[in-house]
Amino acid sequence: MEEDGFAATKLFNRGYSYTYDDVIFLPDYIDFSTDDVSLSTRLTRRVPLLSPVLSSPMDTVTEGAMAAAMASLGGLGIVHSNLSAVDQVSVVRSVKSRRVPILSAPTFRAPSDRIHSLDDFDSCPYVLVTQSGSASSQLLGYVSRSNWLQLDDHKKDAPIDGFMNGSNDLVVPWDSSLTQMDSYFQEKKESDLAVLVKEEEAVDVVTREDVERVKACPRLGAGTVGSDGAWKVGAAMGTRESDKERLQHLVKAGVDVVVLDSSQGNSIYQIEMIKYIKKLYPDLDVVGGNVVTVSQAQNLIQAGVDGLRVGMGSGSICTTQEVCAVGRGQATAVYKVATIASQNDVPVIADGGISNSGHIVKALVLGASTVMMGGFLAGSTEAPGAYEYQNGRRVKKYRGMGSLEAMTKGSDARYLGDTAKLKIAQGVVGAVSDKGSVLKFVPYTLQAVKQGFQDLGASSMQTAHDLLRQGVLRLEVRTGAAQIEGSVHGLVSYEKKPF
Ligand code: 5GP
Repeated sequence: MEEDGFAATKLFNRGYSYTYDDVIFLPDYIDFSTDDVSLSTRLTRRVPLLSPVLSSPMDTVTEGAMAAAMASLGGLGIVHSNLSAVDQVSVVRSVKSRRVPILSAPTFRAPSDRIHSLDDFDSCPYVLVTQSGSASSQLLGYVSRSNWLQLDDHKKDAPIDGFMNGSNDLVVPWDSSLTQMDSYFQEKKESDLAVLVKEEEAVDVVTREDVERVKACPRLGAGTVGSDGAWKVGAAMGTRESDKERLQHLVKAGVDVVVLDSSQGNSIYQIEMIKYIKKLYPDLDVVGGNVVTVSQAQNLIQAGVDGLRVGMGSGSICTTQEVCAVGRGQATAVYKVATIASQNDVPVIADGGISNSGHIVKALVLGASTVMMGGFLAGSTEAPGAYEYQNGRRVKKYRGMGSLEAMTKGSDARYLGDTAKLKIAQGVVGAVSDKGSVLKFVPYTLQAVKQGFQDLGASSMQTAHDLLRQGVLRLEVRTGAAQIEGSVHGLVSYEKKPF
């Protein structure tokens, strides 16, 4: 009898390391609409998500703006740890202090301080004046760039309380929704500014322009919100002694999940850290990894992880397979680890190698519960860093955390380089094209993922996983020619506009 394709178990047990592009799903039967597809999922045992998308803990991907945007989209951001514990905690706090994906990072000053130059208005056109001169202190007033520029020279240099504006009627509660902020600006026609306040302390500035910009993006749902009404956010950490102190501060700041950040997670260091965390903070979910094999996964599951991060050498900026000759094709890695993890009720994160919505469909259907993305998100407005131009193209820097440049800033713990005298890079520094806001392109990407699920006859993540394991979903390996045929070919030129 003619058979259509292979069941996953047959395909992935033939001794080949397959990437996402190597394999293709065969379509199945549709009896529901795309809108009926639910992508709700779990990041870890106890952290549910409405969307299966995570941003990588990398210093050119996830800081406050990205983590806030990911939470607003129903996913989650993992704040990188290539910065001091104090700075990482302040990023976590800033994400948890708002419910709109807007971060202005204004300069804060005390009333007796002075504004010496326009630099104070670099990140935001307003300086906030608070009692202590820092964020999370009682709000006293503000100075706008345009007002300051109009002052006489001698006044410009005077203490701020001589010319600042009062802020009594500019306050909006920290947890205001976009709709509430919109109504605020509709009512206050003469004002372009609102100050987010949490427990009488100033958090940030929101401008009319910010609200208009977010309103122009596809409608946001409820987002990833915890029982305290604040957005959820994760943080990366290492496995050194000093990381225990970092962890203590993160827990105090309310971090929702920690990710033990290592390229080879099956180590005594990680297993001891997992046990330490589970004993000291039993309510905190811990993601272990990275792993790509069944036996690596088994060790971390036994140690008590609540989620597993899968991928070694599949990242777009990664040179691990070249340098160290270890790793695995990402499709095989996800399928193998997810199979053992699902038997232990541990959700899997497919980390790295995602460059289009089809890769997300493949990762999720092969058993992952979420995908973690670096390069896919790095060119967005929410990624850290400024845009620059390369050959007339607007780009943003994107670098591997194992690149020499990132490692000299402190991220070498991930690559077990702590005792090695010579640093060996396992990543590169590069640039990615401007992609606009994640608030725009992620919703379109997720809609495309839903269409993929529909083609496969899977209306939810669980159904997809069940159909795969039952052998109902069939796959084949694509030959080189089939891969060429499967992408645009034979045209003199074309423009690829996904939405
Ligand atoms: P991407 O989404 O760009 O394909 O891959 C991002 C993932 O690559 C990250 O989440 C992380 O697991 C991995 N990664 C980040 N930096 C490096 C690096 O310098 N070397 C290696 N081997 N992997 C990296």
